[in-house]
Amino acid sequence: MLKYELYRNPNTGEEWIETALRGKELLTTYLLNKGTAFTQQERDELGLLGKLPARIETLEEQIKRAYRQYRKYKSDLQKHIYLNNLHDKNEILFYKLVNEHLVEMIPIIYTPVVGKAVQQFSREFRQPRGLYIAFQDQDKIELILENRTHPEVSIIVVTDGERVLGIGDQGVGAINIPIAKLMLYTMCGGINPYHTLPIVLDVGTNNEKLLKDPLYLGCRHPRIKGKEYDQFIEKFVRAIQKHMPNTFLHWEDFGRDNARRILERYRKQLCTFNDDMQGTSVVTTSALLTAMERVGTELLSQRIVIFGAGTAGVGIADNIVEAMVHQGADRKHAEQKIWLIDRLGLLTKDTPDLLPFQLPYAHDTGRGMSLEQVVLEVKPTVLIGCSAVGGAFTEQIVRKMASYTSRPIIFPLSNPTAQSEAIPAQLLAWTENRALIATGSPFEGVAQCNNAFSFPGVGLGLIAARARYLTDNMLWSACLALSGCTPKGANGPLLPPLSEAREVAYRVALAIIESARKEGIAGIKDNISAEEAIKNVLWEPYYRPIRAK
Ligand code: NAD
Repeated sequence: MLKYELYRNPNTGEEWIETALRGKELLTTYLLNKGTAFTQQERDELGLLGKLPARIETLEEQIKRAYRQYRKYKSDLQKHIYLNNLHDKNEILFYKLVNEHLVEMIPIIYTPVVGKAVQQFSREFRQPRGLYIAFQDQDKIELILENRTHPEVSIIVVTDGERVLGIGDQGVGAINIPIAKLMLYTMCGGINPYHTLPIVLDVGTNNEKLLKDPLYLGCRHPRIKGKEYDQFIEKFVRAIQKHMPNTFLHWEDFGRDNARRILERYRKQLCTFNDDMQGTSVVTTSALLTAMERVGTELLSQRIVIFGAGTAGVGIADNIVEAMVHQGADRKHAEQKIWLIDRLGLLTKDTPDLLPFQLPYAHDTGRGMSLEQVVLEVKPTVLIGCSAVGGAFTEQIVRKMASYTSRPIIFPLSNPTAQSEAIPAQLLAWTENRALIATGSPFEGVAQCNNAFSFPGVGLGLIAARARYLTDNMLWSACLALSGCTPKGANGPLLPPLSEAREVAYRVALAIIESARKEGIAGIKDNISAEEAIKNVLWEPYYRPIRAK
């Protein structure tokens, strides 16, 4: 545990830190280090005399230098590494810098650049962060959790690295994803970084390239599966419940089958969330609701084809059905408005090895039809891509859609950019600018279905409300709140600009708190308003005075 304590005067809100650390130890503790901004008094008291250049700088002056250094790096991966190094050295400076350059730096910190950082993890490794729980250490999980840096944890992001973005099994390197996600929780949601914990569950990898790489840092065996895997996850969850019972547990980038099973198993036992399924579906459904407003039509009158029936695809389907049900539709009828296509073509009741969660969307006829055939037969008005198959939405397919619908709604959501099912410029050209588009990867001038619009607000709301669980109704309220933040007007983007990610998170958090109250699962007192509840947990990057203990 860290040798420091953060104090807060309840009347004035003034915060300060007391620590027993001195000299070099203090300078190398990223949450306490202020570098050249340590005041003279702090330098005198905390064993820092002579350890820093004489000039005492402000945080603003430090930011100017850091930004100059950042801009000198030519490649996005170098910029990503620079920011992570800064994060490892001075957390306040890092957050203040990235908050000032949010739009420029979110893609560098998170998708698409984090994909490269994950792939290069074992080669670029410099410093560990978070916790690494290997399968062979399953009987030491509690000891590992006790080794965490921050005693109080309000949020954990955990991955097993089986399905990272659209780049597949990345083994232990996937730790970079929880690290990046937690940065976004703090940047957009104002979650206190002292209360965050990234974890990777290292159950091996099936990635041959990694297994053969002499520098690979993870466990060198094939992925553990079946009962052994489930028991490992069970031990992990029970240890979290025992040591950090009020912690919000976010699952990230698990394989298709495990992601859903794990969420279904635990969502009524603790406050938990899967961003690939739930975060994605909140953003996508919200963009779809806005598209409905733009076209002046209803969700229920749409024919929706989803290409890629995995975690994100079926998660989106489920949420669209919830939306239709909230708008008065019969569930069975709503399910049949969606057509799922996977590797074996259209999913029908006789498709072999249909997964239980795909079953509600299986149609009676048309087994194995290709996307092209489905477009010809079904004439979808909405086409969503979650397949990680770059270029799958071909000119022929898109032109066909444009021939029978005046405003084709097309969301190529796959990441990273090379995996996108289509490029917005092409979609616009093939539809004479009539397509309503939202993408997964960032493209200039187009709405990005960036989960940064959903999970930071959901997390902030859950933490502020001290919610016991996260329900479908709460997610629906998040969808509506996000749609409410999208600018009105006939031709604007279907989601707010990324520059408004913080305001969006705040509005989503308010909706989550109100909804948790209605569900009777909020842990805060009734006389605390949602705004106050948020204020009580919001964290801002500035230097707190540090005193000697
Ligand atoms: P997943 O592995 O769970 O699902 C992918 C599905 O696509 C699988 O069911 C797979 O069988 C199917 N597929 C593969 N090749 C296919 C083909 N040729 N034809 C039809 N189907 C095919 O992965 P996921 O978590 O659902 O993510 C899928 C993609 O969506 C990734 O690229 C991911 O980055 C992206 N994604 C985007 C967002 C967002 O935009 N906010 C959020 C989550 C995921």
